[in-house]
Amino acid sequence: MNHQYKLLHQNNCGYISSCESCAHIQLGIGNLIHCMKPVDLEKMSNAIDRIDVHLELEDFCDVECILPNGQKVLMQSPDKSIFFAFSREEFSQLKELVENAVIMMEVRKSLSN
Ligand SMILES: [Zn+2]
Repeated sequence: MNHQYKLLHQNNCGYISSCESCAHIQLGIGNLIHCMKPVDLEKMSNAIDRIDVHLELEDFCDVECILPNGQKVLMQSPDKSIFFAFSREEFSQLKELVENAVIMMEVRKSLSN
């Protein structure tokens, strides 16, 4: 399929685009491009909020771990095939990226109805 991607949001963490013809979502972080359905972006946004609550409560048991490259916040991809590992700063950038992309996605959806 020939996707026509249009940027939803971009920041230091990466970018999120959606296809104008099929609504397919592309999340680009570093050298990784993760493709998903719009509902998966919403799931990811909810997962980020849940992780953020743990970080705010300083309850790190399930969301942070020590890796060879430092202490990282872990988040599983919607299809569960990939774990993302972010520093706290990268995680807050990811949160900003996904939140704004979801808002833009909803704005575009309402404009097209
Ligand atoms: Zn498409």
